[in-house]
Amino acid sequence: MKQRGVTIWLTGLSGAGKTTITHALEKKLREEGYPLEVLDGDIVRTNLTKGLGFSKEDRDTNVRRIGFVAGLLTRHGVIVLVSAISPYREIRDEIRGKVGDFVEVFVNAPLNVCEDRDVKGLYKRARSGEIKAFTGIDDPYEAPLNPEVECRTDLETLEESVDKVWQKLEEMGYVAKPVAV
Ligand code: ADP
Repeated sequence: MKQRGVTIWLTGLSGAGKTTITHALEKKLREEGYPLEVLDGDIVRTNLTKGLGFSKEDRDTNVRRIGFVAGLLTRHGVIVLVSAISPYREIRDEIRGKVGDFVEVFVNAPLNVCEDRDVKGLYKRARSGEIKAFTGIDDPYEAPLNPEVECRTDLETLEESVDKVWQKLEEMGYVAKPVAV
């Protein structure tokens, strides 16, 4: 049977766990032999969307470009993992509509948890005013209203979060049960 493509879109605050979950899913999908691409927001900003900043307009352009590429790949049977803050609901929903095969994963941890983690030291810089328009601090984040999956990374282990996504992909027919080893 031909592999069905799908875009798995991980959205959430900086430090919520998008990259960590993406890496774990990537490993699992590769082990199971699925055709796969990863579009990581931070990496994409160094090539596909280089030069864009963090105004609403630039964020929207950034996310739309990622969505455009994800859509092309999805059409060709690829499983696309997108990891991007993508703070605006309207744009995510627009991409959902265009891509069709779209699984939104709300990677959710309260702001104070993300800030305590401060994986990249960015919250500290945002609080001190060195970085402006930082999502969650002085820029909005609009949480998904009906995500296919919500991972509460302050309450679940990484394994639990990954299992939740996998379970949903199985239910929706994008992946099969992993081969038992
Ligand atoms: P983001 O990509 O959203 O900015 P990161 O993945 O870089 O976030 O950082 C998330 C941090 O949260 C990591 O240090 C990770 O180990 C930790 N963490 C704790 N529990 C989880 C979980 N269930 N899922 C993902 N990350 C988790």
